[in-house]
Amino acid sequence: MLTGIEKLLFGLLMLFSLVASYYTFGQVVRIVLRGQGKLNFDHLPQRMMTGIVALFGQGNIIKRRRLASIFHWGVAWGFIFYFLVNFLDILEALITGFHLPNNIITNIYDLLADLFSVAVLAGIIFFLVRRFGVQDKALKIRENVLVHPKARDQGGINRDSLIVIVFIFLHVGSRLLGSAFINASEGPNPWEPFASLISRGLVGLPESALTAGWHITFWVAVGLVLLFLPYFPYTKHFHLMVGPFNFMTNTERTYLGQLFTLNFEDESIEQFGAADLFDLPQSQLVDAFACIMCNRCQEACPAYNTGKELSPAAIEVNKRYYIRENMAALANGGSINGETGNGSGLMLLDTIISESALWACTACGACIEACPVGNAPMLDIMDIRRDQVLMASAFPDQLKVAFVGMERTGNPWQSKESRMEWATSLPFEVPLVDENPDYEYLLWVGCAGAFNPDSQEVVRAVATILHEAEVSFAVLGDAETCTGDSARRAGNEYLYYEMAMGNIETLNAAGANQKKIVTSCPHCFTTIGKEYGELGGHYKVFHHTQLIADLVGKGKLHLNGKSLEKVTFHDPCYLGRHNGVLAEPRTALAQAGMTLLEMDRNQKNSFCCGAGGAQMWKEEEHGTEAVSMNRFKEAHHTGAETLAVGCPFCMTMMKDANREEGDPMKVKDVAQIVVEAMR
Ligand code: SF4
Ligand code: SF4
Repeated sequence: MLTGIEKLLFGLLMLFSLVASYYTFGQVVRIVLRGQGKLNFDHLPQRMMTGIVALFGQGNIIKRRRLASIFHWGVAWGFIFYFLVNFLDILEALITGFHLPNNIITNIYDLLADLFSVAVLAGIIFFLVRRFGVQDKALKIRENVLVHPKARDQGGINRDSLIVIVFIFLHVGSRLLGSAFINASEGPNPWEPFASLISRGLVGLPESALTAGWHITFWVAVGLVLLFLPYFPYTKHFHLMVGPFNFMTNTERTYLGQLFTLNFEDESIEQFGAADLFDLPQSQLVDAFACIMCNRCQEACPAYNTGKELSPAAIEVNKRYYIRENMAALANGGSINGETGNGSGLMLLDTIISESALWACTACGACIEACPVGNAPMLDIMDIRRDQVLMASAFPDQLKVAFVGMERTGNPWQSKESRMEWATSLPFEVPLVDENPDYEYLLWVGCAGAFNPDSQEVVRAVATILHEAEVSFAVLGDAETCTGDSARRAGNEYLYYEMAMGNIETLNAAGANQKKIVTSCPHCFTTIGKEYGELGGHYKVFHHTQLIADLVGKGKLHLNGKSLEKVTFHDPCYLGRHNGVLAEPRTALAQAGMTLLEMDRNQKNSFCCGAGGAQMWKEEEHGTEAVSMNRFKEAHHTGAETLAVGCPFCMTMMKDANREEGDPMKVKDVAQIVVEAMR
């Protein structure tokens, strides 16, 4: 129980804490509201449930760094439980005669408080040793990445971590010690095993010393929280609140890395994409406050892993540091450089990301998948690319060739050949929609399938499977054009928009909106199936591996599953990670008799082939290794004879890498393997 003067001091401290917190938390709100669009609060009960699940599930943190994640669970759950502990401690300290009843619920509460205190302290020691003792390299950002000078050179990231570590250590450690003082004074509480254990060292102290000890530890434990609360938004500890809030308010996506359509019809819009900090959507400003600087995204990033200048973590760290050092100005409607207007004065290119890093992104989505607080650094990159292409007309020269190809010939290869060339060598006729208007599946061939020799073989295999299984299908032939996927990921949203609108018209005229579409390209699968919907084109699209698994399951396709050849499957980013199609390609391979040897990085944790994000059409940025080579070596390391792929881009990249290594493997699409098993 606090003394009268202590209660007065406590009341004043609480008043200060609430007023100051209102100001600093308000700064964050005012800054976020300066971003574009709106945070999502529709279907609030479901959204709140999403936030709660994220809070207790810790954003599925266990996906990576198992040991650190277990310690983090202990710290996080302990800290969440401490909201209750602090609340009850304050009531006990302030209200005369307030005591928890002596019953089993109180006993369990005491036990949990005791165990969580130790879990938090153990976790804090683990994180302290990892960062400052063994200096885990995963927590550092490489020198060639653009990082705010205060964050790296002046030790800001380490300092931020230390502040949080010391705060939690003092807060929780003092509370545990305070319980030990009570145990020493009143006798050991069997429901507080650790506090009782510590109390043994305090038994024998005069009663006045034990009472003074409890008062001091109360002030350190609870007083510190009140002092720290207004500072919370300036620390990375803020992620405890903002992480779940981020999950709660994020826009619902039809696939992991969904990009949102720009409105080209609205003539009042002057800026497309993000040049200034406040050109970013509000949700991406929230990302900066949610970031815990754990570098899990960086660890997953193919560009970072192959020595490029890109670190998705650095993007969030940089945003946060620039915001933090200008909190008051930005919150009050001002700018970083004193300029008036709606902008922040912070131009994103060359502050949060370098030009080389901007164009190194493969749009693989690994950073989004890895992030435990729901951040999406990839979306910042896509927004900045949009600004560079649409507003500044500044992009790698090689992309121009692909853009012109899409504009003039409907394909990035700039090929003027017929799109039906691939079908001429087949022993059966491939009908156009006009010739088979009652088709069940529209086979979307894609530009690679139409013009790239390796992919033509894959489309022939898919057509053979459909023919063999007596599935009624048809193709659009020369009416098909590029979906615009590469244009979109390269930032050329307008070109994507034109391609998409043209294709939607063609598809609807062909009745595809009433039928099913199958494609061998995960990029076409995503674009037509998950992106055209925003523009009014709603289609049921299947990847060919899904259809194959289905046909075999229904007994329409009979495979000779006896080859027992060893195969490893490279999950395409736009099939596995972005769309969650993981089982069907494996099922199809098993049905074809293959023995699957998994790479370490598989399924949603797959490593990009290096061609996504429009990389297919340009030289890779300078680094230490080609992304494709990194992946191919991993595939080869499994000991498999065959590398199975399910995407035309992956096929090209893996075939090239295989050739460079002296052809140690066979690279085949799942459809080709299935056709072989049919014979
Ligand atoms: S999308 Fe992929 S390549 Fe781009 S930043 Fe994220 S992890 Fe790196
Ligand atoms: S963006 Fe997410 S994964 Fe990356 S450092 Fe921040 S919290 Fe970690």
